[in-house]
Amino acid sequence: MTLKKKILLGNGVALFLMFAVIIWAIVNLISLGKATDEILSENYRSILAAENMVDALERLDSAILLVLLGDRERGNSQFRNNDAVFIEWLSRAKDNITIHGEAELVQLIASQYSDFRGLFAQTEFNKINVDYYHEKIFPQFAKIREKCVDLRTINEKTMYYASNRAGNVASHAIWTTSIVGLSALLIAILFSVILAERIVKPIHIFMEASRKISSGDYVVRVTTETGDELESLAEEFNLMASRLHRYNEMNIEQIISEKNKGEAILSSIEDALIVFNDSLLVTAINPSARNILKITFSEPLSMHCRDLLPNSDICDVIHKTVETGIQVDIPAEQSIVTFSDYGQTRHYLFSVTIIRGRDRKLSGIVLLLRDISKMREVERLKSEFILAASHELRTPLTSLGMSVDLLLERVADTLSERDRGLLVTAHEETRRMKSLVNDLLDLSKMEAGKIEMEFDNVTIDSLFEKVKSVFKSQAEMKEINIITDNTDDLPQVRADANKIAWVLSNLISNALRYVRRQGYIRLIAQKISLNVHITVLDNGIGIPAEFQTRIFEKFAQVRGQESGGSGLGLAICREIIRAHGGSIWVESTPGKGSSFTFVLPVA
Ligand code: ADP
Repeated sequence: MTLKKKILLGNGVALFLMFAVIIWAIVNLISLGKATDEILSENYRSILAAENMVDALERLDSAILLVLLGDRERGNSQFRNNDAVFIEWLSRAKDNITIHGEAELVQLIASQYSDFRGLFAQTEFNKINVDYYHEKIFPQFAKIREKCVDLRTINEKTMYYASNRAGNVASHAIWTTSIVGLSALLIAILFSVILAERIVKPIHIFMEASRKISSGDYVVRVTTETGDELESLAEEFNLMASRLHRYNEMNIEQIISEKNKGEAILSSIEDALIVFNDSLLVTAINPSARNILKITFSEPLSMHCRDLLPNSDICDVIHKTVETGIQVDIPAEQSIVTFSDYGQTRHYLFSVTIIRGRDRKLSGIVLLLRDISKMREVERLKSEFILAASHELRTPLTSLGMSVDLLLERVADTLSERDRGLLVTAHEETRRMKSLVNDLLDLSKMEAGKIEMEFDNVTIDSLFEKVKSVFKSQAEMKEINIITDNTDDLPQVRADANKIAWVLSNLISNALRYVRRQGYIRLIAQKISLNVHITVLDNGIGIPAEFQTRIFEKFAQVRGQESGGSGLGLAICREIIRAHGGSIWVESTPGKGSSFTFVLPVA
């Protein structure tokens, strides 16, 4: 049976019972009505007849008394009238014989009344005297009256019984209707409860099964044999559960295979790789990282970053990345850490990468440590070679330059225009080469730590004034305005004044090269915590983003913007600032300008 039919059946039974109760109440009301009717029709008419007969009799008596008193005429007429009335009610009483003994009583009244009338046949009505009245008429009158009263009494009694009976019928109706109603109510409740239970029970089974599925138990199945829609629902539910089960198994397989893939990638990477969650706890670590950090395979994974890397700033960088949710930009020189490996110091370049979840929120951090020890060694050897080479080149270059200079001075006039041009070119190129070799030498010395810094307390103002005066005429020629901010409130810095002046000069000469006519160069200094940030800002052509980190490297120049320089200037600047314990960086928007900032410690 379908669920709809079941519900309809439930309602149908309740309606049927309600109908039965109503029918029962109507039947009872009808029988109550009949009982009342009976009282009226059976007894009331006889009582009325008896009363009217008594009435007529008394009037007949008073008619006789009128005759006795001498009012014969009125007496006669009254007698005739009431005789007719008596006979009339007597005949009605005869027609309404309903109870036992009533017929005999009415018969008796009729015969007595006939005797009563017979008394008047013996003597002339108008000649009735008092003695006759007392002897014959009154006793007969009294007898008839008594019988009439008897007739009324037996009818009254019967009426009383009938009334009692009607009362009984009414109370019987109340009781039976209540019982029938209550029974119907009980049956309806019972039926509804059973039906509700039968409908709800499978729903409970479904609920329990759904709960199990949501907690990961996909094996659960629902069995209902209700023969209605719920049974088909159970079939669909089981199908869905088995599909979910299969899907889940496939997912798990995929997750395991992805995990294995990830682990294989992790293990095959030569660089050290550690994955942290957002609480800075290790969630994965590859064998290289275990080697470097001396972590055995038996140690638990959930180590905190600070336990793993206690003596470095890496955890601060990771913490900052987790807090801000954005990649922290660390200058290259600050992203190098050193670990000692069996008495040997090794250098690692670290990088921090964010892992984002589905909602693009940070879900983890990947720390990559790249071993740059070899690279550093090569760099060192390269620097040493450049140092030696440039040192060796300087002497022959000086004599070559001097020779060309002498030739230009002494024999230039005797040479043809073309030969003189060649000599001038040789002079220019020698000069350029000398400056390149000098730069290389400076840089190599600096990198090798072979240049001594002469630290002193220096005012920013003195630094700015020095370089401004150097570039004054050059700037005026190009109509470029060199602006310096007010530096009165700034503290002194601890620096080698000449080297920093060299850095500023290099930055300003670069700016002068790339700022268009009538542009400006601004020198800004700001105190930030225990440092002073010095910025050389221009509104020149700017530097494309991809070159901004590279231009501090040796020989790096922006493609298409080569200006005949060596590409070593910014590399030397970086080394000088490093020697001061600071850092240097550039911010630039192509077409709008660049700002180079370096940091010096407050004195
Ligand atoms: P050089 O100036 O000798 O080429 P540098 O190391 O001083 O070498 O500069 C490297 C490169 O950086 C330059 O070749 C130039 O392309 C770019 N550069 C430096 N300063 C600026 C600047 N203010 N505006 C635009 N580009 C600049």
